[in-house]
Amino acid sequence: MQKYGGTSVGSVERIKSVAARVAATQRPGQGLIVVVSAMAGETNRLVSLAQQMAEVPDERECDVLLASGEQVSAALLALAIRALGRRARSFLAHQVRIETDSAFGKARIKSVDASKVKESLREGEIVVVAGFQGVDEKGNITTLGRGGSDTSAVAVAAALQAKVCEIYTDVEGVFTTDPNICPDATKLDRISYDEMLEMASMGAKVLQIRSVELAKKFGVPVHVRSSFTDREGTWVVEEEKGMDSVLVAGVTCEKNEAKITILQVPDRPGLAAQIFSPISEANIVVDMIIQNASADGTTDLTFTVPRPDHKKTLAVVEQIAADIQAKGIRSDRHIAKVSIVGAGMRTHAGVAATMFQVLAREGINIEMISTSEIKISVVIQEKYAELAVRVLHDAFMGKQVNS
Ligand code: ADP
Ligand code: ASP
Ligand code: MG
Repeated sequence: MQKYGGTSVGSVERIKSVAARVAATQRPGQGLIVVVSAMAGETNRLVSLAQQMAEVPDERECDVLLASGEQVSAALLALAIRALGRRARSFLAHQVRIETDSAFGKARIKSVDASKVKESLREGEIVVVAGFQGVDEKGNITTLGRGGSDTSAVAVAAALQAKVCEIYTDVEGVFTTDPNICPDATKLDRISYDEMLEMASMGAKVLQIRSVELAKKFGVPVHVRSSFTDREGTWVVEEEKGMDSVLVAGVTCEKNEAKITILQVPDRPGLAAQIFSPISEANIVVDMIIQNASADGTTDLTFTVPRPDHKKTLAVVEQIAADIQAKGIRSDRHIAKVSIVGAGMRTHAGVAATMFQVLAREGINIEMISTSEIKISVVIQEKYAELAVRVLHDAFMGKQVNS
């Protein structure tokens, strides 16, 4: 299984060079499946077209539109492989039958029917599958959320029990932080599923979160590597002995969230449920939540949501705030969540304190904090995001501890 991202299929020349790589790596007796993203910039272009039609465009129709990007690149790649004298056939998600739920724009894969793909492989064809798309029970076209082609690739790899799922992208693997933000970032040779899951959840968009979840669940080895070189990239695999000696595996940054505070929420049982149930019913995924200690019978409640859902959330929350007689609502779109991730934090004290000191030295104010066993995240003002990533990378990557 090979998956090529947007930059890798971003032009006619690049699609031709992907075709050449695909042809060169095909081994007799071994099936090869290729999943492709839309050409670089195409999905953004389609999103902006939809936005020009309506302020809140219909989600079903958006998915019909967005899925077209991958239809184009899948067909072009199949054409390019055939032009090299190899046999290739493209499949859209509904032809494979990658079935998802009906959550348009962020659908989750429920099942992959591998029979058509297997038939095509048996006939000696290279199978090219359009990433990012699915089909729901009723036959509606769905899409899997931004970066979703990674998930298509892992899901198809799991269904076919592929030996490896190679993710070809525009960087040489998974780095200690985004190499486009921090030039000192170094490539990791291996990273555990759990660490990769945290890095992806915290904004390292090199792999979509859901793809890592599926890879872990089905034990698919993932190899993230560059489509521009032959060098080994990063293996995402089960945690191994010795791996957890790394204190911090990476620093990540997520700018695609917005923060909402409900002021002076009455401090009574059931109110959190009253606030968050309608938000989840609106299919909005809340990320961080903090509630202050109660003072004079009320508490402030702050949480973050994906930035594209900001307006939709405010509409829901305004209604609730009125119902529960909260004092008001504040919100801020210009935030960033910066995190440090590493399995070694399980056994090392003082990581959080160091992180806070490093940020304090730069005069960066921390607005929210959240921790798990293997990560610490802080919400700060967006304008400090790159600076925070660089100073944290400096502080932690310079002193890897071996326990
Ligand atoms: P593709 O189009 O191939 O799917 P993406 O743009 O989705 O590529 O993901 C690759 C990008 O992820 C890189 O160009 C890089 O800027 C970004 N990135 C963020 N964090 C990391 C990280 N820790 N390691 C590698 N890349 C990262
Ligand atoms: N084309 C989609 C996107 O830009 C899916 C992907 O590239 O993985 O998000
Ligand atoms: Mg991607």
